[in-house]
Amino acid sequence: MQLTVSEIKECGAELQIEESASHFPVLADLEQSGECTFRSPIIVTLRVHKISGMVELEGRIATEVEIPCKRCLIPTQRTINASFNQTYVDELPQVSGDDGEELELSAAEMGLELFSDDCIDLTEEIQQQVLLLLPDHPLCVEQCKGLCFDCGVNLNSAQCNCADAKVSINFAVLKDFKVEK
Ligand SMILES: [Zn+2]
Ligand SMILES: [Zn+2]
Repeated sequence: MQLTVSEIKECGAELQIEESASHFPVLADLEQSGECTFRSPIIVTLRVHKISGMVELEGRIATEVEIPCKRCLIPTQRTINASFNQTYVDELPQVSGDDGEELELSAAEMGLELFSDDCIDLTEEIQQQVLLLLPDHPLCVEQCKGLCFDCGVNLNSAQCNCADAKVSINFAVLKDFKVEK
């Protein structure tokens, strides 16, 4: 997913890009490891402006993702739809401190991204944005009861007797325990 800077008109441009999650290395890894499955392509709508050598992006990312519930592992559907902004420069502007001395700031410290060779590669920016938008602790429902630790049954849809069985085993042990007089 790349933009050629010289092709961006001074009046700006709007474009929509659709690309499969498998084209983004970080997202492809997530799918491979079973952490989530993308159910639609990554759709990126971009407004691009070129202002004296700076390229400003206003973007929106949308996709559908399926993530296993953290407690019961049932796949849950999530819609991702969020905006982002990023400014790209081909060289960092000079910044001076209060005393007039030049400050050595990195691109990140200035909130900028660097590009070179007339080309802005959006892959990294977009996959990082998608990562930020994935829920940390997805739950199928807020009150998900999860799986039984002993027999693995999904406690949202079934009941098991593991908890009762444990109690009765404890009683059985007690019954055989004879107090010596
Ligand atoms: Zn669940
Ligand atoms: Zn159980």
